[in-house]
Amino acid sequence: MKLAIRDDDTCYFTKPRDIENIYAGIWDTVPVSLAVVPFIHSNSDAVPPDRRGGEGSDRELPIGENRALVDFIKDKIKEGKLHIMLHGYSHRNYRTGFEYDTGRDLYEKTKKGKEYLEELFDVKIRSFVPPHHALSRCGMKAVVDNNLNIAGTASLHRRFLFDYRYLTNLAKVFAFRLKYGKRPVRYPYVLDFGDHKEVYCYVVVPKVTLKELIDALYFTYERGGVFCITGHVSSMSEDRTRIQVMKDIVKESRKLADVEYVSVNELFD
Ligand SMILES: [Zn+2]
Repeated sequence: MKLAIRDDDTCYFTKPRDIENIYAGIWDTVPVSLAVVPFIHSNSDAVPPDRRGGEGSDRELPIGENRALVDFIKDKIKEGKLHIMLHGYSHRNYRTGFEYDTGRDLYEKTKKGKEYLEELFDVKIRSFVPPHHALSRCGMKAVVDNNLNIAGTASLHRRFLFDYRYLTNLAKVFAFRLKYGKRPVRYPYVLDFGDHKEVYCYVVVPKVTLKELIDALYFTYERGGVFCITGHVSSMSEDRTRIQVMKDIVKESRKLADVEYVSVNELFD
């Protein structure tokens, strides 16, 4: 089994010490793949509530303007503890929906965000995490045309395509849900669509118990699949029980033989 950790919403507002407080002690075992918002919008729900721009505010804040954060991340990339993925462009919510659901100019924004992060962190961006896991057909095309794989698969039926690989994958996931629908488990393998790959992730949130996540870990392990858990530095800093959940999952996984700890990018290799 391959095991990866994803953490969402790293942006201009993220504090290096919050990342360190949560992941020091974890990233020596499992590298952490940060889903980074390159140009966070001042009213995005990924901005800490006390820093949100308020009514009438309409600004995009490049992560590169937080030098302390960029330097910190670059050091940890060199140490193999952090990896970078793209998490939307501005993580902005519209009245009509989320950024990659109803936003415009998504191909251009994806390209700009990807190239910006590649230049800033001197890495190759290979993976995309849709904000709120919301991805329309148009949003998916923007991502795939920029040669990115997708972590945190959004509902496939909303992107229905008459394509052989697409239909095969849809059938696999549908059959899986029919068989295991009552258990809170995800399809445990990477889905290959030919032009890109996708993987499901588990999110550490209060409504999901540690027991459910440990059950899912063993479910995936028994099938030799890929297990990806997702945290959020911003909310976990306020809720230490979630940090403990993350640590307990990693600790449990260390009891198992043949677990490969990888970045999210490496899940797709
Ligand atoms: Zn997000």
